[in-house]
Amino acid sequence: MKQLRNSVIRAGLGAFYFTGAHHLLRPIFAGVGAIFMLHHVRPPRSGEFQPNRHLEVAPDFLRAMLSHLRASDIDIITMDELHRRLTERNFARRFAAFTLDDGYRDNRDYALPVMREFDAPFTVYVASDFAQGAGHLWWIALEMVIARASSIEVEIAGVATRLDTSTTAGKQAAFDRLHDWLRALGREDLAREIGALCARHGVDEAAICRELCMSWDELKAFSSEPLVSIGAHSITHCNLASQPAEIAREELAVSRARIEDALQRPVAHLAYPYGDKLAARAREFALAKTAGFKTAVTTRPAMIFPENADYLTALPRVSLNGNYQDERILPVLTSGAATAMWNGFRRVDAA
Ligand SMILES: [Zn+2]
Repeated sequence: MKQLRNSVIRAGLGAFYFTGAHHLLRPIFAGVGAIFMLHHVRPPRSGEFQPNRHLEVAPDFLRAMLSHLRASDIDIITMDELHRRLTERNFARRFAAFTLDDGYRDNRDYALPVMREFDAPFTVYVASDFAQGAGHLWWIALEMVIARASSIEVEIAGVATRLDTSTTAGKQAAFDRLHDWLRALGREDLAREIGALCARHGVDEAAICRELCMSWDELKAFSSEPLVSIGAHSITHCNLASQPAEIAREELAVSRARIEDALQRPVAHLAYPYGDKLAARAREFALAKTAGFKTAVTTRPAMIFPENADYLTALPRVSLNGNYQDERILPVLTSGAATAMWNGFRRVDAA
């Protein structure tokens, strides 16, 4: 086991489908089900510099995943049904839930038709500022700034820094550096810094939100689709763990109230923005529980195990990552092998 684990970590994801090692791991790591995480679903775009590419999959890849699940006789269920099965400890059949974060219009235009082909329900987690047309999709703004700039000057932690963005490699390196810096900032600092970058490089930040995200009117029609559930994803899409408790509480409660008010339907499920250990941990899990959410999902990679029933506001997900759109990955993902590798071979991690 240890040897297999080490060689797999060394060789990476491809090792699984070339060696078939995921078959050996299946009994230990397949779990009882999985929650799949997606963001954009749309046809691939051209161009070399696409630093947010991991956040989008093509409709055909989603279709391949759904075919694979149907062929494997895995139930595709809503988050309500997932909650029911976990609380009732009903693991008679393996299941999968589909979740899409942020509330992008392509979820309606490209994901919904594919989900309909398979009669498969899914949940879209909406950041209420995005639906309002007033949100900071700063990772996309950053991509647009860097795409058009040949150099960028910023002050990072008090140090004036000049980044060369004249080549694709330079752009990618600058994106990684600035992305890490911005992500760690509080919500006011982040808004100020990305606002300044956009202003300096002629990027209309507000237009990004309106162009990519569904408005309240669009969401209202979308949410009446029988296969669609809407969940909450905070107000501003901030890193909750870096906010004072009072703000984090407000981000959860107010976003939920705004969505319920606009769509006139209950919101029972939450996705933490970013959702990794730096953005959602014990305090956030407790806040979500107190706020009354039935479930809350993270971006920690793992399958669902029976033990997750005790941690319904700290559920892991399996990313359908745009950088790995190869159909050979699908049995690896449903075997639990990939997530086991990514999370250091833990089954449940809710600390
Ligand atoms: Zn998000």
